[in-house]
Amino acid sequence: MSQQSLHYQLVIVGSGPAGLAAARAASHSARSILLIDDNPRPGGQIWRHGPGHPPTAALSQALEVLRHPAVRYLSGTRILGALGPQCLLLEDDRHAWQLHFEQLILCCGAQELLLPFPGWTLPGVTGAGGLQALLKNGLQVSGKSLVIAGSGPLLLASAASARQAGARVLRVLEQAPLSSLLGFAGQLWRWPDKLAQALQLATTAYRCNAHVLEALGQQQVEAVRIRQGRRTEEIPCDLLACGFGLVPNSRLANHLGCRLEHGAIVVDSEQRSSLPQVYAAGECTGIGGRELAEIEGQIAGFAASGQLQRASALIRQRRHWQGFAARLQRHFELQASVLQLARADTLLCRCEDVAYGAVASAANWTTAKLQQRCGMGACQGRVCANAAQRLFGWEPAPPRLPLVPARIASLMLDGAPPDTAD
Ligand SMILES: Cc1cc2nc3c(=O)[nH]c(=O)nc-3n(C[C@H](O)[C@H](O)[C@H](O)COP(=O)(O)OP(=O)(O)OC[C@H]3O[C@@H](n4cnc5c(N)ncnc54)[C@H](O)[C@@H]3O)c2cc1C
Repeated sequence: MSQQSLHYQLVIVGSGPAGLAAARAASHSARSILLIDDNPRPGGQIWRHGPGHPPTAALSQALEVLRHPAVRYLSGTRILGALGPQCLLLEDDRHAWQLHFEQLILCCGAQELLLPFPGWTLPGVTGAGGLQALLKNGLQVSGKSLVIAGSGPLLLASAASARQAGARVLRVLEQAPLSSLLGFAGQLWRWPDKLAQALQLATTAYRCNAHVLEALGQQQVEAVRIRQGRRTEEIPCDLLACGFGLVPNSRLANHLGCRLEHGAIVVDSEQRSSLPQVYAAGECTGIGGRELAEIEGQIAGFAASGQLQRASALIRQRRHWQGFAARLQRHFELQASVLQLARADTLLCRCEDVAYGAVASAANWTTAKLQQRCGMGACQGRVCANAAQRLFGWEPAPPRLPLVPARIASLMLDGAPPDTAD
C-alpha cells in the first residue's frame, strides 16, 4: 500500500460538544475540515452512547455537521505525536498516515480524577464517570448495591444512570461541606437549566462532608468504609464508583508545546493557544460543562476560519457560563482529607505496581518515573500522573512521541487508508 499524507485547512481533535460545535461553526467558511476522535463513536463523554443507549436527540442534531461536504470524520483514530509544527502522525487499527494542517483546534475534553485510597484497585471499584461510560457500553448492574463517592455534579448524574439500570444506590458521598453546597445551590438561579437538572437528580442517598476511607474485600469489593463528618461507617456493597472531579485533558497540548496553567490549555479571547496555529476549546481549557464547551467550540471554529465577528458575538454568552464554571471549581474544591487517603502500601501506579510510599518523597514526576517506573505502564500515566499532580504538585514533563502505544509500522509511516485521498 502506498504511503499517503492528508492535507486539511482545519483539523479538530475530539468530537464531543466542543469539537462538533467547532466543526459546525467553521463549516460556514473553511474549505476542508477533518474531525478526529480516538473513540469509535462520536459524541465525547456527555453524549457517549452504546449498546442499549442510542444517541440522544441533542447528539443527533450536533452530528448533522458530519454530512457537510467540507467535513470529514475519522473515528477510532489515535494521534501518535507531532512531526512538525503543522503535521501530526496518526494511526487507526489498520493504517498510519501523516496529517498536514493550517489550523488545529484541540477539543480533547477532560479526564476523571482518580485519587488512590486503600482498596481502590479491587475489582468492582471504578470511577464515577467511568461507571457512566461502562453503563452506556452495556455493563449490567441490575439488583447490585452501589456506593458512589468523590466530588462534583457527575456523582448525581452517575447515580441516576445506575438507578435507571436497576442498581440500588445506597449512598452518594460528596466530600464538599454543606456550607459549600448551599453556597453553590443558592446561585444556581442564574443558570435555570442547571437548577432544574440538580432538582431532577437530587436523591435522599446524598450526603455531604462525606468520603470514602477504604474499599474492603478479598477478590472483589464487598464493603466500603466511609467517613461522614466525624462518624465512620462500614457499608456492604457490590460496587463502588469513586471520582474526585474532572481535570483537563491537556496531554496532546503539552506535547505540542502549548502553554498550560493548572493543567489547562491557556487560551485568549478567540480560544487561540500560545501557539498561533493551535486553538483549544471545551474542557481541555478548564472544566465547565457541556454548555461552556459548546460555546467555546463555536468561538474557536469561527475564529480559526476567519469569522471573527461571529466569534466575538459569543463572548458575553461565554462569560455567563464561565461564571458557572468558576463557582463549580470554588464550591467543589477538594478538602485536605481526601488528599490523604493513601497509605504507604496503597498503589499509586496500578499498571506498574508502584506504591504511594515508594514515590512520595521523589523530587518530581520525572524522578518518580525513572526511579520507580511510575506512569510507565500500559496507560502511560493517564491515571497516576493526574493523581500525582494533585497529591504532590508535580507538573508532568511534555510527553514524547508516541503518545499512545503504537505499531512499529505506524512509526515508520507504513500504509495509508485507501479512502482518504484528499
Ligand atoms: C468519564 C466522564 C464522564 C462524563 N459524564 C458526563 C455526564 O454523564 N454528564 C455530564 O453532564 N457531563 C459528563 N462529563 C463531563 C463532560 O466531559 C463535559 O461536560 C462535556 O462532555 C465536555 O465536552 P468536551 O467537548 O470539552 O469534551 P468531551 O465530551 O470529553 O470530548 C472530547 C473527545 O475528544 C477525544 N479525544 C481526546 N483526546 C484525543 C486525542 N488525543 N486524539 C483523538 N481524540 C481525542 C475523546 O475521546 C472525546 O471523545 C463526563 C466527563 C468524563 C471525563
